[in-house]
Amino acid sequence: MLVERVTECCGENKMCALTCCSCSMDLKRIKPMVNNSKFICKVCGHVANKKENLCQPTPIE
Ligand SMILES: [Zn+2]
Repeated sequence: MLVERVTECCGENKMCALTCCSCSMDLKRIKPMVNNSKFICKVCGHVANKKENLCQPTPIE
């Protein structure tokens, strides 16, 4: 039984994954992560309160 890396999309606790497809889109989960955004993803432009929720976080000045 092979368990490869978790797919970037779907399942990861990152805004990029959480919003990339309708199957993982959950506004109730996402809103509390972005209501006080301090970081933005350099790759996809998503924002989040915590950098661990982004794939390439950079602080919003
Ligand atoms: Zn991203």
